[in-house]
Amino acid sequence: MKTCPKYTFGVGDRFANGAHAQLAAFIEAKKLGIDITPVWNKSNREHNIIGSEPIQTRQAADKAVADLGWTGEYLLDADHINLSTVDRFVAPCDFFTLDVADDIGEAATPADVEAFIARHPELIGTVAIDGIAQPFQITREDVEKTANQFLKATQKAAAIYQHIVAAKGGVDNFVTEVSMDETDSPQTPPEMLIILAAIADQGIPIQTIAPKFTGRFNKGVDYVGDVPQFEKEFNDDLAVIAHAVKNYGLPATLKLSVHSGSDKFSIYPAIKRAIQRTGAGLHIKTAGTNWLEEIVGLAEAGGTGLALAKEIYIKALEKKEALCEPYATVIDIDYAKLPSAEEVSGWTSTQFTDALRHDPANPGYNANLRQLLHVGFKVAAQLGDTYIQALKDNSTVVAKNVTGNLLDRHMKVLFL
Ligand SMILES: [Zn+2]
Repeated sequence: MKTCPKYTFGVGDRFANGAHAQLAAFIEAKKLGIDITPVWNKSNREHNIIGSEPIQTRQAADKAVADLGWTGEYLLDADHINLSTVDRFVAPCDFFTLDVADDIGEAATPADVEAFIARHPELIGTVAIDGIAQPFQITREDVEKTANQFLKATQKAAAIYQHIVAAKGGVDNFVTEVSMDETDSPQTPPEMLIILAAIADQGIPIQTIAPKFTGRFNKGVDYVGDVPQFEKEFNDDLAVIAHAVKNYGLPATLKLSVHSGSDKFSIYPAIKRAIQRTGAGLHIKTAGTNWLEEIVGLAEAGGTGLALAKEIYIKALEKKEALCEPYATVIDIDYAKLPSAEEVSGWTSTQFTDALRHDPANPGYNANLRQLLHVGFKVAAQLGDTYIQALKDNSTVVAKNVTGNLLDRHMKVLFL
């Protein structure tokens, strides 16, 4: 297995044009003593919406690394793939996010469930975990229920993993993540323990796991939920992971992965406290926030850049239902609070950037507009070269926003 670095940061380069500005943030962070490995991630869904191929993400990342002289590690994530979508990612990627969210709830065979329970008597009864004050009380019925919900999903993850091993011709050249975030109900720490036991049984050398945490992780906007409850759950999950590493032989590098992790300003202090206190690693994904900063940059540039930003918003507004549909579990938009096409047409640069830039203290900030634009990258994709050319024409101001957002609002807050 390829060892996953301790701190990894997922960055999304939707239009294969932002890798330099993103990498600049990692270079600046390194100067501040923060060692973070970039992981360029772009899901199958995003490739389909844009009409791009994983190899293009690889080429953009390789070029940025060569141009900027980055000598550290970097990875390319086949993000949210399954058995039917993994193949085109195999060659360019060295990090695979096995998405089993759709398989949760599909029952494994009764014989497999029984065998799992029989193999794990230690999961039943009082289960003490270092770092968690109150031991878990887990009944046989709890284990059976969780196995019925998750065992099949772990079997499917194993099938994807084995498929990748066969296609790669070995186990040494990639990192494996299992994601369960795009589902309706959060996984509790006791469930996480049972799931990790099942993953270990399947022989998957998992190094990062993306649970669905309590609360809403809407795309590109702040966390919505009970922050103290999140902090407790996050810390308990870290303790469960350490316990599972010790007891089930999972890789020592296993860590939590926070998906839709950009812009979650209100939980960053809790995450920072937890990783500093425990020494745990972290993978955090910030993909879409990067594309939003491209739009902020175009709007800030004024002139044709601002006009294009307005055009993208207005077209996204017209197609809002279709754009939002694939992202239903990870956005929360109040359509009534979206500014009209007429209103936005009349906006200045400052009005547009105030509405879009993620500064909750700014009275002009509009989280509804921000989320709609977050899922509206299809509109920019349909503009083709016009959009790419605008990024090139305004590259300085776009790069300033992309780099600054990652460095100042994310990396420094989480790691400094
Ligand atoms: Zn995800």
